[in-house]
Amino acid sequence: MKNITVIGSGTMGNGIAHTFAQCGYLVNLVDVNEVALQKAIATITKNLDRQVQKGIISEEAKAATLKNISIGTDLTKMAANADLVVEAASENTDIKFKLFKQLDEICPPSTILASNTSSISITQIAAVTKRADKVIGMHFMNPVPVMKLVEVIRGYSTSDEVCDLIMDTSKKLNKVPVEVNDFPGFVANKILMPMINEAIISLNEGVAGVEEIDTVMKLGMAHPMGPLQLADFIGLDVCLNILRVLQDGFGNPKYAPSPLLVNMVTAGHLGVKSGQGFYDYSGGSKDLVLADRFRKKINATL
Ligand code: NAD
Repeated sequence: MKNITVIGSGTMGNGIAHTFAQCGYLVNLVDVNEVALQKAIATITKNLDRQVQKGIISEEAKAATLKNISIGTDLTKMAANADLVVEAASENTDIKFKLFKQLDEICPPSTILASNTSSISITQIAAVTKRADKVIGMHFMNPVPVMKLVEVIRGYSTSDEVCDLIMDTSKKLNKVPVEVNDFPGFVANKILMPMINEAIISLNEGVAGVEEIDTVMKLGMAHPMGPLQLADFIGLDVCLNILRVLQDGFGNPKYAPSPLLVNMVTAGHLGVKSGQGFYDYSGGSKDLVLADRFRKKINATL
């Protein structure tokens, strides 16, 4: 495999493009939004600069990585020669089903179609194509250039050959792939999202404030980041969509999203990407700053 098309240039897409390009693959990065593409190139450049400063890569490697990435908004042109497509568009079933239908028509029959979805059924995505054996989940973690795990999700019809190839490709990206079956949320989000949701429910109930909840989980459970900061980092809209997939997929009310999460997403407070979530990122400070909404000292009892 040489030619990789990455679809969606947001939080995950730019990291996936960066990682493939750094390992010598030729990457076409596609988005419907030209501004998102420009922002992605700026983010990739900034992250490569950081790698150079830390002595992880050379200036030449940075230049070679950037040279391996082309950007564009024309899906047909950008996906026509792909050996592998990694779709990282918004976590929305309609968007993903439409994209995979289009890709099935645009790409050569041999192209493997992977989705970076956090929770949507790979079997359902595969069912809109005529190549269900070549559809697979390739779930990278955020931030992609740093995080080692790739959750490789085998759909009901994914072939052994395709699964082996994606496990192998993940290793070539210096990642550790783990094969899992196709269940709502797979392993990572079936376990992570109920924890994040419970943290938001606890905040809403007045059990403790934002910093207190995050500190308990960081220092008490040795998590590198508290669940509310992590939710901001993932994107509150992404968290909400995943919880809805879990709720629908298992038919179990225990996955019902906290009303506070729903309100925050409706209000456009999506976390890091919008500048406001549980914390305020608008000042560009390296230290965590609480969002105004969550500043007041809580003193609630049930
Ligand atoms: P995001 O909102 O940051 O970016 C999504 C991008 O997709 C946007 O730039 C949008 O313009 C683009 N897009 C939407 N429809 C498109 C289309 N039809 N064609 C091309 N581009 C399109 O989202 P994200 O956080 O990068 O998430 C992308 C995927 O990765 C989702 O499936 C999400 O569940 C998954 N994921 C997210 C995280 C995370 O931490 N954010 C982690 C793992 C997996």
